[in-house]
Amino acid sequence: MKVTLYSAQPYDERFFEETRLEGFADEAFELVYQTATLTHQTTALAEGSDAVCVFVNDVLDAVVLEALAGMGVKAIVLRCAGFNNIDLAAAERLGFFVARVPAYSPEAVAEHALALAITLNRHTHRAFNRVREGNFALDGLLGVTLHGRTVGIVGTGRIGLATARIFKGLGCRVLGSDPFPAPDFADIGEIVALDTLLARADIVSLHCPLLEATHHLINDASLARMKPGAMLINTSRGALIDTCAVIEALKSRQLGALAIDVYEQESGLFFRDRSSEIIDDDVFSRLMTFPNVLVTGHQGFFTVEALREIAQVTFQNLLCLTRGVHCDNALITRQVSVSP
Ligand code: NAD
Repeated sequence: MKVTLYSAQPYDERFFEETRLEGFADEAFELVYQTATLTHQTTALAEGSDAVCVFVNDVLDAVVLEALAGMGVKAIVLRCAGFNNIDLAAAERLGFFVARVPAYSPEAVAEHALALAITLNRHTHRAFNRVREGNFALDGLLGVTLHGRTVGIVGTGRIGLATARIFKGLGCRVLGSDPFPAPDFADIGEIVALDTLLARADIVSLHCPLLEATHHLINDASLARMKPGAMLINTSRGALIDTCAVIEALKSRQLGALAIDVYEQESGLFFRDRSSEIIDDDVFSRLMTFPNVLVTGHQGFFTVEALREIAQVTFQNLLCLTRGVHCDNALITRQVSVSP
């Protein structure tokens, strides 16, 4: 079975090859690593493949899916949990098998949300640079004690729950908002309406999926309902936040601080070294001018454990396909025959 991996980074190749050797050496998988992102322009790279393996910023709209189907590609395996980048209706119509990795170390993302909150609150990123330059002044590094503060978790699924547990461990009061709250959340905090959470939380951390209903969940109106000076953290998907509205809220001081691991226009920016390029995204560049904004390039998942899990589960998903057995991680199940 020939599988083309799009958006493949050196670490993807390392963990896929290690995992193949450890557990799947007897299976006839031919893996082709392509650094290119899957777009309308790059579908031809999958020529001759039975499956494509994609990540968060690969584009799987109807046009791309039709092109892949036309080339004989039968399966799409996602190396991620979120599937907002695939037109599932089109994939189903075209008869694709689609599977994902539903959970890969939720704690990895939760720990990154904590890292962002603590860094931004105590300014350790600025202290690091200052001390290296022999500047030991504390002015500008003032934080607050998180113990006793209120943290609002929007989306109490796997990652939200893990984040809630961590903040509870710090001695924070934890609130959650979720149309289908995790039953375990009751042991950690209180489920409230989103507006109540926004009004009461000193830190709001987003962990719900990107859906039509959650697109720009954080907008002018919801920012106005937040506690003045609160911190907003997004490690979920960029388009949960209206970035222009957030910039206005930062300028008016209504929003006290922003930490994002995801950005709504990240597909043209993240996962590449652009340090010698001119960034022509003016909204992103404006964000970079605020001292109270911290951005990381979608690295919440980036731990050894998570990369192993992603490779392991992706191979298992592919095996379900080749063996024609039920796949727990399938978003669309199809009996498709592929060359062994
Ligand atoms: P999950 O499916 O376990 O949980 C999502 C929760 O959000 C569910 O409980 C659901 O009921 C809730 N939800 C749905 N709509 C909501 C709404 N309108 N308001 C509040 N809650 C709502 O998912 P998960 O594994 O916890 O992952 C959460 C998100 O994290 C994913 O969708 C993905 O986009 C993102 N993610 C980011 C990274 C990263 O590296 N930064 C890595 C993995 C996942």
